[in-house]
Amino acid sequence: MSPQPSPLDSLTQPQSIPAQPSALPQVWQSFLHGQSQALVQAGLWRTIETLDSAPGPTVTIDGRELILLCSNNYLGLATDPRLVSAAQAAAARYGVGSGASRLLSGSTPLHGQLEQRLAQLKGSEDCLLFGSGYLANVGTIAALVQPGDTVLSDRLNHASIIDGCRLSGAQIVVFPHGDLAAAEQALSQARGKVLIVTDSVFSMDGDVAPLAELVTLADRYGALLMVDEAHATGVIGHGLVPSLGLSGRVPIVMGTCSKALGSLGGFVAASRLLCDYLRQRARTFFFDTALPPPVLAATLTALDVIAKEPERAIRAQALATRLYHGLVQLGLSALPPRAAIVPLMCGPAELALSLASALRRDGILALAVRPPTVPPGTARLRLCTMATHTDAHIAYILDCFARHKDLLRRPPTPSAQPQ
Ligand SMILES: *Cc1c(COP(=O)(O)O)cnc(C)c1O
Repeated sequence: MSPQPSPLDSLTQPQSIPAQPSALPQVWQSFLHGQSQALVQAGLWRTIETLDSAPGPTVTIDGRELILLCSNNYLGLATDPRLVSAAQAAAARYGVGSGASRLLSGSTPLHGQLEQRLAQLKGSEDCLLFGSGYLANVGTIAALVQPGDTVLSDRLNHASIIDGCRLSGAQIVVFPHGDLAAAEQALSQARGKVLIVTDSVFSMDGDVAPLAELVTLADRYGALLMVDEAHATGVIGHGLVPSLGLSGRVPIVMGTCSKALGSLGGFVAASRLLCDYLRQRARTFFFDTALPPPVLAATLTALDVIAKEPERAIRAQALATRLYHGLVQLGLSALPPRAAIVPLMCGPAELALSLASALRRDGILALAVRPPTVPPGTARLRLCTMATHTDAHIAYILDCFARHKDLLRRPPTPSAQPQ
């Protein structure tokens, strides 16, 4: 006699469920449709590229090899065999997932080791890991300031900073990009506890914040300064803060393991008091699953590599400078790189898109950055060099820009719009 079918069978036996036409309530259907149409019409509809290869200096998409010119894997470490084998070994020993928040059962010795190494890198007393840089910013800012407090934020700060500020409920004062007079004016009127937060290298303009001056201002007004080193860590030495000799003068240094370090994760390097407070109060730490062991092992190895091979950062930066000078010689409005980001200003989104498509036909992947990532009218190609690009790659890229430069006749102005 065959056993009765059990209700569990449908869970354990793979079966293909035909896709159902979505039954959304009419009001939602029209909302989503209308929003999508508007994005398409404004040239702002995004598509997601699927790479069929590892994110090296070249990648494969639909069987075609393209030079990758828009990755934050600045040092080429995401595909480094040493990181890959460290991740494999950690997976074999600890598994691929951590299974829970650090506060439950998700913590491994690798978490503590990496926190210690990052604290050393940044010259801080302690360090706290988060699942990503995004989560680090959101959780830290929201834990530190509350309604009644004030947070000062540079107009071009990363979205994760903006979201942290909004979530905190504190009064947000957005000061014009790098404008110290405006920041001081806001400080003189600020209520409650005051946090100043800024990117060190700005992700879309590739320029840097006036950190020494912000340190002085923060000291003068008793404000807490938090600096996001996502694009500087591992590219400008250990970060812009240490490069400027400001270690110990910036109480909160945030960074990510997802860019130059080739892996994944965010962190806050700060005093033990502050990190311990965040362990208790940062909700994106508390309620988020711990980073998986292979990722931690890869980051630990990345820290060894950047210590042993400083030439990687130097090369990524030198190639960015070479690309910038080449573009300027062609009469294009590139912004000077301080790390490995070369923004090429295009103005209207359509121009950025047509330049990106022309490059794509030449075998170069350089995606257009459009609003809302950047202010309206300042669409651009955000070109990123990698230590693993060859000289021939850069020469070829510049040849292609020389052929397409007439696409960009209208000279645009750099970012100057509200967030
Ligand atoms: C990328 C980025 C982040 C977020 O880091 P992830 O690890 O990618 O989540 C935060 N701040 C800045 C300035 C960034 O560019």
